[in-house]
Amino acid sequence: MSEGVEVVIEGKYVLAIRPQGSASASPDSTVIDLGFAVLMPGLVNAHTHLELTLAQTDVKPKRRFTDWIREIVRVTSAWGEDEFNSSVEAGLRLIGESGTTALGDISRNARAMRKYVKSGIRARIFYEVIDFNPRTAGKTFDALLARIDKHPRNDNVLIGIAPHTPYTVSTDVLKQCIKLAHENDWRLCIHLAETEAEIEFLKQGTGEIREFREEFGIPRGWRPPEMSSVRYLERLGFFDQPCTLIHCNYVSEDDFCIIEQSASSVVFCPRSHSYFGHGNHPFLRMLDCGINVALGTDSLASSPTLSILDEMKFLHGEHTEVPLQTILRMATQNGLEALGLAGNAGALSNGSFADLVAVAVLSDESDGEDVLKLVFAEQSEVVFSLAEGTVLYDAHDADSRESIDRAQRH
Ligand SMILES: [Zn+2]
Repeated sequence: MSEGVEVVIEGKYVLAIRPQGSASASPDSTVIDLGFAVLMPGLVNAHTHLELTLAQTDVKPKRRFTDWIREIVRVTSAWGEDEFNSSVEAGLRLIGESGTTALGDISRNARAMRKYVKSGIRARIFYEVIDFNPRTAGKTFDALLARIDKHPRNDNVLIGIAPHTPYTVSTDVLKQCIKLAHENDWRLCIHLAETEAEIEFLKQGTGEIREFREEFGIPRGWRPPEMSSVRYLERLGFFDQPCTLIHCNYVSEDDFCIIEQSASSVVFCPRSHSYFGHGNHPFLRMLDCGINVALGTDSLASSPTLSILDEMKFLHGEHTEVPLQTILRMATQNGLEALGLAGNAGALSNGSFADLVAVAVLSDESDGEDVLKLVFAEQSEVVFSLAEGTVLYDAHDADSRESIDRAQRH
């Protein structure tokens, strides 16, 4: 820790990591001195909804989950495309500031996909579908195709498909999404087993979700599948390819087997989990079973910030028994795998993508494992981030600072 290092970057890649001053920089290179900071692989926010960024101040906290959904609908139903696009823009700035270099974002209303490309971030945009009425499945599916048709051609911003939940998307639409995703190798993502109410609805067709469905429309003659959310999706072929499962707060050991055998990933959003007062999340048991578990913030409608470093610190505070290295892996490599973005990123080594974050810490008295303790300390903060050699955020740079301030004021 006391010895400085230099990371030499050429284009998108890390060329060398060497002791500071061991070689002179070439005359035409740009030198960025990050001062006293810990350099780590770029952080990965595997689940968020940037288009809800500007809804944060208007969404009132609700005790019941379905009341919270009603609140989101109330706030966003007054919005037009401009508001959703502005939300994404503001969210991308906050994401850059937080040291996130790869992102899994759910998109339903925003249309300005070029903003992701312009930001320089690596992203999987999951196009969201909500429609529980089988009679409108064809129309809904056509609208999805029309949106995907406008997706920018870019190697860093990839397509995903996100049927919202098993209780807001009909079996017909789910089947079409599965077919479309598997045929095109577009990763599937779904909010799954988030509440006990969802499990009750799918097994018995009753409870809080039933009331919610009756309010928003439930098809005549609908019958519950009478099985767990995970088993229901398995029967439809959802797990025939690795997919991304958001939350999975209420899953059984049988469900674990299905998830593990399909090489699918679970995204755990610790502060959103706490916001809704759920019991202990089974992420440790999942990791023991060989399931890839990543971290996400979810949206600002249920989380105070879009910072994965904040999620890491929160999770550490709740689970001091979990090695810091495990939490760091969940926030980096596991996130890339959950988004189908793994490759030569997720680690800092010669030849890897130049995706990195610098975290300013308070002390230089430690080394080894203790370096991570400094990163997880309350005072640490992201001061710089880079994705494939492109600077996403530099706290020392006035222009960068100003653009983030503008986004927060928006
Ligand atoms: Zn979500």
